[in-house]
Amino acid sequence: MKIKIIYPVENMIELYKKCQLCPINCNIDRSLSKGRCQESDVLSIANVMLHNGEEPCISYGNGSGTIFFTGCGLRCPFCQNMEISQSVTRRKYYSTEQLIDVILKLEELGAVNINFVTPDHFMPHIIEAVRYLKSQGFTLPFIYNCSGYQSISHLEQVIDDIDIFLIDYKFADKNASDMCLKVTDYPAVAQKAINFLMRNKGSLVVNESGHASCGVLIRHLVMPGFKENSIEIINDLFIDYGSGIYVSLMSQYTPRYADKQYSHLQKTLAHSDYAEVIDLTQTLGFNNVYIQNIDSENDQYIPEFNLKKMFDFW
Ligand code: SF4
Repeated sequence: MKIKIIYPVENMIELYKKCQLCPINCNIDRSLSKGRCQESDVLSIANVMLHNGEEPCISYGNGSGTIFFTGCGLRCPFCQNMEISQSVTRRKYYSTEQLIDVILKLEELGAVNINFVTPDHFMPHIIEAVRYLKSQGFTLPFIYNCSGYQSISHLEQVIDDIDIFLIDYKFADKNASDMCLKVTDYPAVAQKAINFLMRNKGSLVVNESGHASCGVLIRHLVMPGFKENSIEIINDLFIDYGSGIYVSLMSQYTPRYADKQYSHLQKTLAHSDYAEVIDLTQTLGFNNVYIQNIDSENDQYIPEFNLKKMFDFW
């Protein structure tokens, strides 16, 4: 299906000309050079799939229509999606019109929502597509699946267009953050981002069938050796938002992706540490917590980008 965008899209693409799309604030013209995310101003996709491995409120029915963008400004040394975020081995380039085509194809295949993974650095293309589709009566929820490293100015531009935010809260503890990330301000940025989203969007709304339609789901990957950071995060969330919020506690960390220079990340998560974090949520009365099988460190939740799982239209 060929689509021509016929309504004004507020020159979103202009945002690439002096890029401040993430807190790295490279201030470069991405038509001429690449910033820390390693992406130009041409939309680049690593994979498209009906994803059955997200939380049950997101992946149900035929699955979440998931679009994995290449590149990332945060560049975690332990990224579980390393093959697409930092060591990109394959990609395809798209215009906004072609992105719209992909989304419509996912809808045709029975996707229950449209899930943008690591969307920040391609936000202009994404929001153009979302605004166009919504103007044409498209009704599937749009999901922003992001790292927590989003500036308020970025979120202000997408808050009205995106329905569901799956946002990571990786580190609250500054020392832990400094030991595991290559940026120094993650905890402060993530706390502000989550606070902004919770104020403007509220916690996740899930219907009687267990399907999410809007709101915020906070994800936390419990890291090996950093149990105290996880405990601080749970306590912070409880104090700031109460026990009714939706939280996803992930145990899927696998050291095979960790940068060799970060030797303290070359280990697996202790079962007892994960259990302790879960116990804390129960003690505090959280009643909307997704947990993973502790054995999920075995890669079952990590999309395999080397296999030919993409569709023939991709
Ligand atoms: S999106 Fe990329 S180029 Fe833009 S500020 Fe972030 S890292 Fe820099």
